[in-house]
Amino acid sequence: MISDKTALNTDGYKLPDGSFRAYSSYGCYTIFYVTKDGGVLCAKCATSDGQTTDPYDPQWFLVGVDVHWEGEPLTCAHCEGEIEPSYPDDEPKAGDSGKA
Ligand SMILES: [Zn+2]
Repeated sequence: MISDKTALNTDGYKLPDGSFRAYSSYGCYTIFYVTKDGGVLCAKCATSDGQTTDPYDPQWFLVGVDVHWEGEPLTCAHCEGEIEPSYPDDEPKAGDSGKA
């Protein structure tokens, strides 16, 4: 289990203006944020509400960051916005579309 001492170090996921990244600095992969209650937040909501350091506010206490590689879009627990995968299934792969 995650103890109160292991709050996520978010420094590497913040832009110079203090907001959380929506995309990784390397490769521009989609990033999502995980709260202590198991919810998923988009970068925008993590920025506006996810910066609590109070571990007793599990809806907003960030414990993880991950890249959403592929599959279905995730749904932000706060704004219900979709967090698109880095490689959407329904997009044709480059080179798959035949001749132009
Ligand atoms: Zn959101």
